[in-house]
Amino acid sequence: PVYFRQRWPSSRRKTRFTGGVERTLVAVKPDGVQRRYVGQIIQRFEKRGFKLVGLKMLQASDGLLSQHYRELVKKPFYPNLVDYMTSGPVVAMVWEGLNVVQSSRRMVGPTNPAEAPAGTVRGDLSLHVSRNVVHASDSVEGAEREIKLWFEGKELLNWECYDHSLTYK
Ligand code: ADP
Repeated sequence: PVYFRQRWPSSRRKTRFTGGVERTLVAVKPDGVQRRYVGQIIQRFEKRGFKLVGLKMLQASDGLLSQHYRELVKKPFYPNLVDYMTSGPVVAMVWEGLNVVQSSRRMVGPTNPAEAPAGTVRGDLSLHVSRNVVHASDSVEGAEREIKLWFEGKELLNWECYDHSLTYK
């Protein structure tokens, strides 16, 4: 019923958020998996009302990461970022819902946990920028690109959430 798509009124080049139903990539990074936070991170998104449409555990490769973090490959911290992201399994998810790109960024919190408010995943569960537990796409275009990188089309499921009449109206 609310599958409209409204453009975000902005002159910014990137369509960061559409205000409509979107999909985004959320990934529990290796520190989050090691510290056994997968369940509670999933629970935060379920409780908020978002719909899980893709989920898998994988060992990220250097090649995947160089595409995922293509804007960061020249940064001095990039080698450490790859070591961190390949240090163990990652749990990658695709969440769908109204304004999910912007809402999940807010739920995850700023990149640097020191700036992340209590109540956000990073603000509650992490301390250092290089061990910040979780990833969430930062724009609608970014989400589309990242979902294609991490998932094959057939791994994403279209299914009806029976409680949408409660969460959307
Ligand atoms: P975000 O993950 O919030 O979208 P970025 O895309 O800027 O942030 O950075 C990607 C990831 O790179 C961060 O989540 C963090 O793990 C790592 N990172 C970013 N900046 C630094 C830094 N200054 N030092 C170490 N690691 C960093």
